[in-house]
Amino acid sequence: MQDVRSQLQRQRDDIVARLRDFQAGAPDTGTGLEGDDAVRDLGDHVQHHTRREMGFMTRQRLVSRLQRLQAALERIERGVYGVCVECGDAIAPKRLRAIPEAETCVSCQERMERQSRAAA
Ligand SMILES: [Zn+2]
Repeated sequence: MQDVRSQLQRQRDDIVARLRDFQAGAPDTGTGLEGDDAVRDLGDHVQHHTRREMGFMTRQRLVSRLQRLQAALERIERGVYGVCVECGDAIAPKRLRAIPEAETCVSCQERMERQSRAAA
């Protein structure tokens, strides 16, 4: 559990630093998050003319990720980390390794995605 916490804190600190860059008006340095291929691909294919829009999109993504990381850290503090917030079941360890900030189990996640698609 200690590993997960430091991993989450590291990712949170990384995002906070990147958001600080945005606020300072600095361009995205393009370092990308580890394993975040979508961001890298965007950086490769989108050139300067759409840079501002890309920056905005990236910023929105970072903010929502930051909120999820923060929430996960709070769940660790409360001792409920790894428990699905929807149904209360344990989240599969494999899922937590892939998405440390996951707050729902796979079946709840899928149900919520179906609902949000139906609402859209
Ligand atoms: Zn669930």
